Amino acid sequence: MPFLDLRPVNDGLKAQILADLSDLIDANTFINGTQVSEFEASFAHYCGTHLCVGVASGLDAIRFALISAGIEAEDEVILPANTFVATLEAVTQAGGVPILADVSEEDYNIDVAAAEAAITPRTRVLLPVHLYGHMADMRALASLAARHRLELVEDACQAHGAERDGLRAGAVGRAGAFSFYPGKNLGAMGDAGALVTDDEELASRARALREHGQSAKYRHDVEGYTARLDTIQALVLLHKLPLLDSWNEERRAAAQAYSEQLMGVGDLTLPPMPADRASVWHLYVVRTSDPDRLSAFLAERRIGTGRHYPEPAHLAPAYSWLGYRRGAFPIAEELCDHALSLPMFAGISEEQLQVVVEAISDFFRGG
Ligand SMILES: *Cc1c(COP(=O)(O)O)cnc(C)c1O
Repeated sequence: MPFLDLRPVNDGLKAQILADLSDLIDANTFINGTQVSEFEASFAHYCGTHLCVGVASGLDAIRFALISAGIEAEDEVILPANTFVATLEAVTQAGGVPILADVSEEDYNIDVAAAEAAITPRTRVLLPVHLYGHMADMRALASLAARHRLELVEDACQAHGAERDGLRAGAVGRAGAFSFYPGKNLGAMGDAGALVTDDEELASRARALREHGQSAKYRHDVEGYTARLDTIQALVLLHKLPLLDSWNEERRAAAQAYSEQLMGVGDLTLPPMPADRASVWHLYVVRTSDPDRLSAFLAERRIGTGRHYPEPAHLAPAYSWLGYRRGAFPIAEELCDHALSLPMFAGISEEQLQVVVEAISDFFRGG
């Protein structure tokens, strides 16, 4: 069983997508086709925001959200130490300086007290990440941002549809950034992303950035990029969005089943289980003393697993210039050293979950 199988989701949509694709090829509307604005309207509605700007990737979405929110050179941006490297890339590529804060044992997301302790006079933005599909404590973070007059931008690339305390992922900050990389909860068939916001000015800056800085054709007010959402990807996403909630529900059921059956097995630490819809379970991440050995054992039984992430961003060679040392963020480091992601995808069957659970039990029985 692969770590991630997209066939249960894609198989049922293939015929419809191919038919629409055939029309699109005849219409030649590969750039800025009507499907792009249609998807933007639908996704904004889904997130509970007024506006959505489709872009080429999640990285573009975070980067454009930061630039459009007014980040200037050397502005400090506070983000969690346990995240995918793209969150840091977005900050530096927007001209900012990433300042990391440790994560919390409660939800594996940015620790609000640690974020507060990292604030300096140069801090401009708080950039929480809703990692593994668990929504960060946005109530506390919004109040922290307000008290210190900081911009709040959400990296919601793993949290399409997550909710916590009545708030929805992506809709709390000045802007929220999503990735539609194929393996995300809402995935395209290639690279794609979007930012959502209620701020018309921010949205129009982001629209210019994605298209060579244009406010109108061949009018270049700012320097921009080639980073539009492809019409083909918008077409795919339009087919998938109506099914996202049911897929997230399947992930929740799978997480529930894992947690019930893996409780007390070996030395596993199971992931936090939020009671409401706070998690959309992008990943189901357990902790164990030797994740590589468990992973190798499962691989022998043809069960795929993942490490998210084996190396904390602050210890990556690409970011050694930030000057952080091992020991700087103990909880993030402990997670990186011991985390193992089990197979998790919409459409994973009870039998498949059973196979994983039995294999893990065998491993700890010395099997
Ligand atoms: C996937 C992801 C991104 C970047 O998305 P891309 O579409 O690959 O650029 C950013 N942040 C997090 C937390 C992600 O998981």
